[in-house]
Amino acid sequence: MIKLTGIKKSFGKQEVLKGIDLTVEQGDVVAILGPSGSGKTTLLRCINYLERPNDGEVAIHQFKVDCKRASKQDIHTLRQKTAMVFQNYNLFKHKTALENVMEGLVIVQKLPKQKARELAVQALEKVGLGNKLNEYPSRLSGGQQQRVGIARALALNPEIILFDEPTSALDPELVGEVLAVIRKIAGEGITMIIVTHEMAFARDVASHVVFMDDGVVVEEGPPHQLFGTPKEERTRQFLKRSI
Ligand code: ATP
Repeated sequence: MIKLTGIKKSFGKQEVLKGIDLTVEQGDVVAILGPSGSGKTTLLRCINYLERPNDGEVAIHQFKVDCKRASKQDIHTLRQKTAMVFQNYNLFKHKTALENVMEGLVIVQKLPKQKARELAVQALEKVGLGNKLNEYPSRLSGGQQQRVGIARALALNPEIILFDEPTSALDPELVGEVLAVIRKIAGEGITMIIVTHEMAFARDVASHVVFMDDGVVVEEGPPHQLFGTPKEERTRQFLKRSI
């Protein structure tokens, strides 16, 4: 279980997160929706301390990190338990697909190269890129590059995968292949949080949907409830504009 308690984050005078509480159960697929600037990406980045919260606690199972006391070792441990899929893929351009996926396994997890290669090949096969192992990112489409990003996260076998708007940099015709891969791994019981503007996908794939606005969680619930019978006026207005 992942539990966020009272997460606050400001940039200068701007309070972007105003005290977020969120519980993610094992195997949950949580979609975070909300208008641009509502703090979705910042919240995701606070979970693995890519942004350090100003207040609050992040807990992954029994491992708890209070932002007021977080040590370097705490942050390192937290990052080992999470993996992130970025909007712009963040691949190493001078490394092949296989090398990109092996990197974290060898450098962070300290696995022997042979074992890392085995796991990386498995992950790339899972995202349908078993035939692109030795390609460099520049020779892959945006959708394929993002699938390498997903394979890299999967190979680490984290407690949770954090997806930051994984399809928003893609041409529309490439969105489907990436969503299909996320849908497939969601079906395998991997815990994930996805920040997305893809409403139909969230409705379909998420087990739990969170609507954020202006740095707070306005409403959350199962997709049929949040999309079908939203309780809050702000949620209704957002859905009306977005669907
Ligand atoms: P979008 O859907 O457009 O990606 P979002 O809901 O993910 O938006 P965030 O990216 O979390 O929103 O940004 C929330 C606010 O925090 C915005 O006003 C943004 O400009 C600001 N912000 C985010 N990161 C930083 C930063 N590193 N420094 C200063 N301001 C930041």
